[in-house]
Amino acid sequence: MLNFTIGPVMSGERVCEIGAEQVPYFRTPEFSSVMLENERLVKRFAKAEESARAVFLTGSGTASMEAAVMNLFDENDRVLVVNGGSFGERFVQLCELHDIPHEVVALPFGTSLKAEHLAPYENAGFTGFLVNVGETSSGMHYDMELISSFCRRNRLWLVVDAISSFLADEFDMAAYGADVMIAGSQKALACPPGISLIVLSERAVQRVESRRCKCMYLDLKSALKNGERGQTPFTPAVGILLQIHARLLEIEAAGGVESEVSRTAALAEDFRSRIGHLPLEMVPESMSNAVTALHPLNASAYDLFTILKDEYGMWVCPNGGEMAHKVFRVGHIGALTKEDNTTLINALNDLHKRGILK
Ligand SMILES: *Cc1c(COP(=O)(O)O)cnc(C)c1O
Repeated sequence: MLNFTIGPVMSGERVCEIGAEQVPYFRTPEFSSVMLENERLVKRFAKAEESARAVFLTGSGTASMEAAVMNLFDENDRVLVVNGGSFGERFVQLCELHDIPHEVVALPFGTSLKAEHLAPYENAGFTGFLVNVGETSSGMHYDMELISSFCRRNRLWLVVDAISSFLADEFDMAAYGADVMIAGSQKALACPPGISLIVLSERAVQRVESRRCKCMYLDLKSALKNGERGQTPFTPAVGILLQIHARLLEIEAAGGVESEVSRTAALAEDFRSRIGHLPLEMVPESMSNAVTALHPLNASAYDLFTILKDEYGMWVCPNGGEMAHKVFRVGHIGALTKEDNTTLINALNDLHKRGILK
């Protein structure tokens, strides 16, 4: 199967080889040095300040979203949440569950966040800002400059879910003054699902350390403490951490995060520039390099997903809920090439010829 979803995505050869090996014991100096290097490279690729920290949680991306919310905010905070799709909605649900006072900037699916959306919230007593820089459900990529200056002006803790965007879109944690950046193993890191990671600014580390977290597993204090020696409080997904290590080293050897972002951008641009003749509308106003969301004008998006899966051996990414029949997505992350794009475009052309994509 060719996999054009947005996670899990296709892994490279080395990552697959490691997946076939025995999982080693991990309370060793050897594993600690792997983990310290993982932290160093993740910080470098996130463009975090030197004094920032990165911790690795065993759990999917949502575990880190929940950990960030629980460790940074409580009922004395007031948080602004950008909700432009299902991942923004998840932050809203987390605030509700954890009794964190919040207001929601609700955006129609696939539309940009603009200064006018934030204007009513200036100097309004907020303490934090939650955003998914890539709203993966629509492929929307928000304007980080706008968000960053709003947060600086209003002295907000800025939490950025970059789960689908990390390594696919440019991101500069220090320049944006972001306090938290979240990523996950199964997106552009192109490893199996099971690990998510959180990069914390120095001041976010201090805030976490001064607060009580009412959850043992997601308490970032113990993750930070153990991480100092390259360890984790509990048994992590050891194999995936080794795969992440191999992948980070590969990216570094191939020119670092800039090369990886431009490789992904080129793949996305190649795909987008070659589907103009098809009855498919591109959804978001500003697109992440990670994903293209498409609205078939006269066909069910979910039917297209099913036919591509069953008859062509390819996965595109269906949408959930009310968008299921309206939108499907094509990912550009993972071990994909322009030849793979050609294979998918040929299949879409064939569906067009058959009158299914009409
Ligand atoms: C994939 C993704 C997540 C995490 O989802 P999990 O299924 O928990 O890994 C969160 N936010 C965004 C923007 C994502 O793309």
